Amino acid sequence: TALRQQEIKRTKTVCTYCGVGCSFEMWTRDRQLLKVQPVVDAPVNGISTCVKGKFAWDFINSPQRLTTPLIRENDRFRPASWEEALTLVASRLLQTRDQYGPDSIGFIGSSKGSNEEAYLTQKIARAIIGTNSVDNSSRYCQNPATEGLFRTVGYGGDAGTIDDLQQAELVIIVGSNTAENHPVIASRLKAAKKHYGQKWLVVDPRRHEMAERADLHLRIHPGSDLVWASAMARYMFDHGYEDAGFLAERVNQVEAYRQSLTPFTLDYAAQITGIQEETLREAAELIGKAGSVCIMWAMGITQHSHGADTSTALSNLLLVTGNYGRPGTGGYPMRGHNNVQGASDFGCLKNFYPGYESVSDPQIREKWAKAWGVPAERLSLKVGQDNFMMVELARKEVIRAMYVIGEETAFSDADAENVHQGFTNLDFLVVQDLFLSRTAQFADVVLPGCPSVEKEGSFVNTERRIQRFYPVMAPLGDSRPDWWILTQLAARMGHDWGYQHPQEIMAEVAGIAESFAGVSYSRLEGWKSQIWPVNADGSSTPLLYTERFKSPDGRATLYPLSWQPPAEEADAEYDLLLNNGRMLEHFQSTNQTGQGGRTTSLSPDWFVEISPQLASARSLQEGDWVKLISRRGEVEVPVVVTDRVQGKVLFISIHQGKDGINKLTGEHHDPSVNTPAYKELAVRLETLDRP
Ligand code: SF4
Repeated sequence: TALRQQEIKRTKTVCTYCGVGCSFEMWTRDRQLLKVQPVVDAPVNGISTCVKGKFAWDFINSPQRLTTPLIRENDRFRPASWEEALTLVASRLLQTRDQYGPDSIGFIGSSKGSNEEAYLTQKIARAIIGTNSVDNSSRYCQNPATEGLFRTVGYGGDAGTIDDLQQAELVIIVGSNTAENHPVIASRLKAAKKHYGQKWLVVDPRRHEMAERADLHLRIHPGSDLVWASAMARYMFDHGYEDAGFLAERVNQVEAYRQSLTPFTLDYAAQITGIQEETLREAAELIGKAGSVCIMWAMGITQHSHGADTSTALSNLLLVTGNYGRPGTGGYPMRGHNNVQGASDFGCLKNFYPGYESVSDPQIREKWAKAWGVPAERLSLKVGQDNFMMVELARKEVIRAMYVIGEETAFSDADAENVHQGFTNLDFLVVQDLFLSRTAQFADVVLPGCPSVEKEGSFVNTERRIQRFYPVMAPLGDSRPDWWILTQLAARMGHDWGYQHPQEIMAEVAGIAESFAGVSYSRLEGWKSQIWPVNADGSSTPLLYTERFKSPDGRATLYPLSWQPPAEEADAEYDLLLNNGRMLEHFQSTNQTGQGGRTTSLSPDWFVEISPQLASARSLQEGDWVKLISRRGEVEVPVVVTDRVQGKVLFISIHQGKDGINKLTGEHHDPSVNTPAYKELAVRLETLDRP
């Protein structure tokens, strides 16, 4: 027994599945995962995890893992050495830059990779290629939320921590299926509800678990959230629930904003949202009377053609009621991928260096150029292209080469046909991934990266909390940590950065970006964590805005808005709305959770949820097959009849299906941030005659 125990290695890691950032020990013997063991020291989750954190690790040893670089030759992939593959990638990227200019190349960084890897991705784009065209998957999810926070309070992150969410008297949960998408946060809220009498106001078209447990559920017409939120703000002013002292002391543009609320009466809101006026009044009274309010929101808000405006409306409502800067208050966009916050924080954005430092500011450029040892002119002052525009410009042959790390763009981007056309038109595509993904099928060179358990690094969770993870096992085959690949690639492009360990990369960032000044691997050792902005002495900022908002005068801004209807609504021809989102058991394109392991067996197949009313009107029974047809394409799925959806609104997961949901989605997007309007999708339904 003693010998057996010695063979077992216990390693701290951080879950790679969602922005909650649970950490736990992995018990392994060589490559065999024996146990995922939560420990009380874990700062976010303590002894809790969800099914993905506990069980969704079969992919690590999947025979489908890439174990060697691949080069396309005669339309087939052949194995290659690292030397050959990296030399080819370096020369083709430099050639493209020299022939077509730096902005002919686009980079999509990984929201699953580490902070250090995100940093190196943007460093290659900026310091070697000379473009700001670098982005990450926050474009598809939380960019509109970030924009709403920039407009009103200043930082692109959650206002406080999960502790604050637990302390709130009232939590408003909008367009967030928290129990399935951020399960451990949902558990902590359930505890707050049970033990401290916390109240929940849930606003969602779908009656998911949080809605079932809510004190009040507003079952809203999709795409009309700006209207209820603005009507609530107006009600606060009309009924003396506004925090007049807070507004006078800390907020600009109060009167202009108040004027802009004129149209948003409860009566008007009832017409647009489909919620009864009396219920809206009940919601407003809940908000007005609560001593502390947090608002959590996710993709039910952001994946619309006006997601940034709706996010702004939510933050406005918090400002009107003085719900920022105190424990138990603030805005909480729920980050989806494990490190989508970190990928943005560490610079995979078209307009910011790490720490949200503007690329257009010549002094900031000077600072980064000096730190990186490159001429200032190499760093572009021009805002780059985002994911959405990169693909558009690839289609038009303006972008000639792309480098995609760990993102399943060919499956997860809206309007898949368009994306595929863009990739086909590229002269050169590099994909760095664990698997020969659908995106990799379009690549010229595929580089095998490693999952977090085979490397070292750090992630940032939805609370802005930075945590380290450690190597649980060695890289599989010839796969390599992404930071190693990027360092080697840079060397072959004439930039010998010489990093031997990710801690050197973090030390470099801390020396340049103010927000991370006091971050270091020693301060993050083991179960320790830091929450940015981190001061030079290493102290964290768990709760933002206690003294100042992030703006030149330290004040917040109320931002006037008007409501625009969704870009695509149901009509006579396409008479149903297809809502879509995530499921507890799966992650994104299921490249990790659908590899035949335990999470696959828990949820093996795609289905569409339809309401009992629709089932009865169309004579459909559970298990019947239907064809869903949008203006772009069609898919075939079996139906599940459930009152989680109502009327003519259906729901389908984004994870499954051969071609997935994006065969149906279209070009609609939020013009202020270029986030696709995945949730604005009209379809019609045909019954299929099959078993
Ligand atoms: Fe992982 Fe999120 Fe589940 Fe925690 S809640 S175990 S971070 S998927």
